[in-house]
Amino acid sequence: MINFSWKIKSISKKSKARTGIIQTPHGNISTPAFIFCATKAALKSVNTFQAKEAGTQIILSNTYHLMLQPGSKLIADHGGLHNFMNWKGPLLTDSGGFQIFSLGHGSVAEEIKGNRNNSKKKKSLIKIDEEGALFKSYIDGSNYFLTPEKSIEIQRELGADIILVFDECTPFNVDKKYTATSMQRSHRWAQRSLNSFNNKNSFLPSFGSSGKQKIYGIIQGGIYEDLREESIEYNLNNIDVFGIAIGGSLGSTKEQMYKVVNFVGNKLDVHHPVHLLGIGDPKDIWNLVKSGIDTFDCVSPTRLARHGSALIRSKEGKININNSKYKKNTNPIDINCSCNTCRNYSLSYLHHLFKTNEIIGFNLLSLHNIFFMNNLMQIIRRAIEVDQLDEEEMNWYI
Ligand SMILES: [Zn+2]
Repeated sequence: MINFSWKIKSISKKSKARTGIIQTPHGNISTPAFIFCATKAALKSVNTFQAKEAGTQIILSNTYHLMLQPGSKLIADHGGLHNFMNWKGPLLTDSGGFQIFSLGHGSVAEEIKGNRNNSKKKKSLIKIDEEGALFKSYIDGSNYFLTPEKSIEIQRELGADIILVFDECTPFNVDKKYTATSMQRSHRWAQRSLNSFNNKNSFLPSFGSSGKQKIYGIIQGGIYEDLREESIEYNLNNIDVFGIAIGGSLGSTKEQMYKVVNFVGNKLDVHHPVHLLGIGDPKDIWNLVKSGIDTFDCVSPTRLARHGSALIRSKEGKININNSKYKKNTNPIDINCSCNTCRNYSLSYLHHLFKTNEIIGFNLLSLHNIFFMNNLMQIIRRAIEVDQLDEEEMNWYI
């Protein structure tokens, strides 16, 4: 039976950057890799075959959304999430914690943009205590109580290859004392998640043995280096996890985020693949692979596409297809891009689709952005293998 493994292929002599392979029962992931978000078991406007054709290696879905709708039992009846959405490749689910707390406190992206406190979104988190988190469904207003055990049970039913321990996503606008208390509770929740994960009675007959899933721990500690250090110690020495994710608050500026990720990355080892939660800006990826990050995820490629933004290799990073200067432009988004959209459609046509709200426009722009991110990661992997990351980053911007 094909199982799981993590192998490092090459390590830079100039930084912590490395290439590797995560082997899963649904295929291999060459790292560094980008994980695309199929939040509610769907990549927005792109089907799983198109995603695969655009070079996608792995996608993720969110436990929080799927537990509310359609419910994990229904998905388990399909034999799991792979079958439900017909994605044959590697798949990851988060624990649900991130969404509960980001909807409760405001999101990491809002935080980095500095507008978490201005969020007009209705807060859904009702109560958090040692046992778990009580929150209100955004669909029908009913109350849900999510615990580490419940999160693992749901993630078992969803059946993704890689699953995450249940944690609290601590907001940045709290003091160090709250961050420390929250981190320690998340550590206890991680242990409970693992106990549940390792409990043979929790296995679903349809998913067979424990070899079908692996679990990642999550490093907490916010912007405080001593807390991050404590959480690294905990994750590396006290619990047995396949991979490590860097979670919690990364600060309120990009500089702070680089500092936190660099601090944590420098202290991690080669024995676990490292995932950075919620970061997808190409500039950040060029920078953060040097801290030893192996996988990234973000909703940005498809979200940007829905707003008419196509990713390009410039310092600005994107163009807006709605701009009238593209009205008569017969070139593709990028003459050097070999995605289906760039090989077959002009800027002028894409501009027209967005101006007339034709929904195929979302699909064509999303396909370009997905291909773009996969191509970026491939270029980064090659650059690490020849240890020319800085040089290739310069070449990237044309
Ligand atoms: Zn393209």
